[in-house]
This record gives sequence, C-alpha cells and structure tokens, in this order.
Amino acid sequence: MDFSATIIQWYNQHKRDLPWRNTTDPYVIWLSEIILQQTRVEQGLPYFYRFAENYPTVTHFAAATEDEVLKLWQGLGYYSRGRNMLKTAQLVQEKYKGAFHSDFDSLIALKGIGEYTAAAISSFAANQPKAVVDGNVNRLIARYFGIDEPINGTKGQKLFRQTANDLLDKQHPALHNQAIMEFGALQCKPKSPDCSVCPLRDGCYAYNNNAIDKLPVKLKKLTVKNRYFNYFVVIDDEKVLMNKRGDTDIWANMYDLPMIETEESPNVEKLFSSKKILSMFGSAPVIIKEYPSKKHILTHQHIHARLFHIETDAKNINPDTGYFFIKVEKIKNLALPKLIFIF
Ligand code: SF4
Repeated sequence: MDFSATIIQWYNQHKRDLPWRNTTDPYVIWLSEIILQQTRVEQGLPYFYRFAENYPTVTHFAAATEDEVLKLWQGLGYYSRGRNMLKTAQLVQEKYKGAFHSDFDSLIALKGIGEYTAAAISSFAANQPKAVVDGNVNRLIARYFGIDEPINGTKGQKLFRQTANDLLDKQHPALHNQAIMEFGALQCKPKSPDCSVCPLRDGCYAYNNNAIDKLPVKLKKLTVKNRYFNYFVVIDDEKVLMNKRGDTDIWANMYDLPMIETEESPNVEKLFSSKKILSMFGSAPVIIKEYPSKKHILTHQHIHARLFHIETDAKNINPDTGYFFIKVEKIKNLALPKLIFIF
C-alpha cells in the first residue's frame, strides 16, 4: 500500500468527529482553519462554535465591529489574526458579494488568505488537488523521509511543499489532506509518538534510524524581548478606569488599564514619583494594594506585569490620556488581554 492509501486507511479508523469535517461550506472551513492555526482542537472548538453561532455567514461576519470580534477572540492570543479575519470577511463581502469562493485562485487573491488556508479550503470544499502543509504535515514528512532541511527556512518550505504535493492523492485530495493532517496530529505526535502501532513504521526513516527526536529541524526563533508593564487599578464609585490601546503594539485596539512600561522591573518608589505617573494622575497616587505579579508569554515577547490598586483623585486625571471609567460589571463586554483579568 502506498503512503497516501496507508494514511487514508488509518484516518478512516482513527479520525475525530469534528464539526467542520461534515461540511463543504468554504466559509465554515475558513473559520475553523483560522481558529485552528491558533490553538489545539480541544481549545479551539468552543471558539469555532462561538464564531459560527454569532456569524452564521460571511455577510454577518463582515458586519461585525472590531470590538465584537476581538471580544469573541479573547483568550486565543495573536489578536491580529482576529482583526485580519474581520478584514478578510469584509473583503469577501465587497469583492465577491458575500459569496465565499472555494477555488484556490480566488482565495489566494484575497489579502489575508495564505497558501495553507487556500489549499485547505479549496481541497476540503471543492476537492481541488492542492496539498496542505501545516506543522503536523511537516513533522510527518521530515521524519518519514528523513529530511533535515529546516522546516521554517525558505529552501525547506519549498521542499516540504513539493514533497506534500508529490504525495497527494489527486483523486481524493480532501480525504488525503484530512488524513495527513490528522495522522501528524494524532499518530506522529511531536513528543514520544507510539511508533509500535504506526502503519508507516517499516518505511519510516526516523524510526529506523533512531532520529525521531532530531526531526523535524527548526531554525531558532528570534530572541525574546522582556517587557515590564505596570498597571494601575483605579476604582471610583464602582467604576474602573480603563484605557483603549493604540493600534501599533500588541493587543492593538483592545482595552487594558492605565499602564506605564519600564525598561526593567521597576523600583516602586521611583515609579510612583515619576513624571509619567504625575502627568497621568495629576499627583502621586497612594498604593492600596499590589496584586500578585503575572507573566505572559508571547512568541517574541515576555510581558512581566505588576498591578497596583491605587487611590487617586479622579478629577485630576489628565483628559489627554483618553482613559475612561466603566462600571465593573460592564468590563466583561470589553476585549481584554488575559493579563488583567482581576475583576
Ligand atoms: S514510525 Fe513513528 S516517527 Fe515514523 S511516521 Fe510513524 S509515528 Fe512518525
């Protein structure tokens, strides 16, 4: 049995029953693919249902506000993806009058839809012979064929895409793609795959050469930047002082608390007598309590957060800051980074 037939047979026995596998609606497949690029299936499922319920068609999605989308996306991380989804939905609405196309060329022509997503949608929705290449597929190919070219280098990406296309069952591209992704996710897992039950074992380079832990090869990530966010919790008459973030940094256009970023973990005394804090609050605030500090890990940044509950005179808050008060019970309606979930 060849590679494709083997994984398809395995898939028919082991596949998970997932909602987007029972549809050929390109919009629903698109929703699931974008969400799953972000997270594991179990964590992504509630988000998928949430989006599919709130926006049953791309026209509904295109009519949403950015705040609403970010709120639904909250907790998934990489918020730019949520924002880009909205832009893509609006493009589909404008360019294709709300008809989510399923052919590769129309999809790839849309800003916001890349090679992987276009291949996934066109093969799952329209059975087009386009191979999907995600992390699971790369891992399986690297191990099975013993390819040590880095999967995230330019040469490697080309090589893995070419190999995935060569392997593709052109008669059954949807089934093949589902099978290879599921095989990588469940059988050829990143850590300690159970090779004793693997139907590809005999032909697998990594298994036969004791190289499972060495493949795939990945180029080192960029260095991580440490950032120090010092948040101020101001509560006045059961309302909390909030800040809408700008659009150039992480968590763009989401909401958080008034904050001062420092180069390193701050000296609290200096922080509370700094020019910045004085210009925000008009006078040096008094610390009521400090919440336990938190660390939030993003791909290229580690955010170290300290949260101070402070007392300050609301009247003196600098109006140029754009801060605004909102009732405590209404905060849940705002899209917030997890870091400040204290209410
Ligand atoms: S034998 Fe092991 S390493 Fe090789 S494809 Fe199967 S699960 Fe992956």
